[in-house]
Amino acid sequence: MMARIFSGIQPSGELHIGNYLGAVKNWVQLQHQFETFICIVNYHAITAPYAPVDLERRTHEMAVGLLAAGIDPSKATLFVQSQVPEHTELAWIFNTLTPFGELERQVAFKEKSAKQEQVMAGIFNYPVLQAADILLYLADLVPVGEDQVQHLELSRVIARNWNSRFSPNAPYFPEPQPRLTPTRRIVGLDGQAKMSKSLGNTIGLLDEPDAIWEKLRPAPTDPARQRKTDKGDPDKCPIIFQLHKAFSTDSTVREVETNCREAKWGCIDCKKSLLAGMVAELTPIRERATELNADPKKITDALELGSSKARKVAKTTIREVKEKMGLPLAVGGA
Ligand code: ADP
Repeated sequence: MMARIFSGIQPSGELHIGNYLGAVKNWVQLQHQFETFICIVNYHAITAPYAPVDLERRTHEMAVGLLAAGIDPSKATLFVQSQVPEHTELAWIFNTLTPFGELERQVAFKEKSAKQEQVMAGIFNYPVLQAADILLYLADLVPVGEDQVQHLELSRVIARNWNSRFSPNAPYFPEPQPRLTPTRRIVGLDGQAKMSKSLGNTIGLLDEPDAIWEKLRPAPTDPARQRKTDKGDPDKCPIIFQLHKAFSTDSTVREVETNCREAKWGCIDCKKSLLAGMVAELTPIRERATELNADPKKITDALELGSSKARKVAKTTIREVKEKMGLPLAVGGA
């Protein structure tokens, strides 16, 4: 059997270049080598306060962004989590096999809960649903950014716990491994936190060149470089040099590095050169998104088709899991 990959993305805001460089670009390449499942994880998105109309719109926009970035529905199964109810069914089962202490020490939980007055159990249990998302498809590899590595470690613990209880002789669930890109963590425009939909420090994948420039222009660079005549250190430039490495050609990256170290360029020159690289890569994506936006039904149909393909696999897993656990199947199916 061809190895399977699974990855998810929350429809909690705009698709940004951190998502693109850390995950989506990788998915576009991997869909040719693996059986690929890409899920828009709306059950994860509702763990933060939201308005229903926004969620529906963002789910649609996320699908447009992913298809425009190069996800090909004839290669990858692109679907919406809430259209495959087996995700929550397996998550409940996994809750019974997840040590509380493992959830308590998740960094993402500590960060998210610190920001809220009242912490809901959904945020605490988020990595359990994530384990269910992945293991429902018996996925071997999970192409994600660095922020997800600890969650994935927990998915392996859950797989191991389930296997040792219910399938001790032949492990049923694989232990999924992360697959990182060279740009595994993109820093946000504040130069501090990771770029994230929920932090408002993003550059949108579909932003127009003018909008990108408005964000690049004030972005912080090497703090020791006060004047254009000061020599800079690209390794101390948290955002711009990192993005050059992702979007510019190797020769441009070398040129940028020399010109910064020798104070031949000011930071604005360097940012203009970055803008050119970004516009070259992102313009075709933005144009494809415009075409897709002209036909909303095509998107809804693609998602429904993907969800029904995903559901076939999910039903088989749930049936096998319930059989091994002594749980009668649902009437008329899994
Ligand atoms: P966000 O934090 O923006 O809400 P998600 O949690 O939906 O993003 O993550 C979607 C994918 O994008 C995951 O694989 C995640 O690892 C990756 N990702 C998110 N932010 C970044 C970032 N700043 N750098 C690299 N990868 C990222």
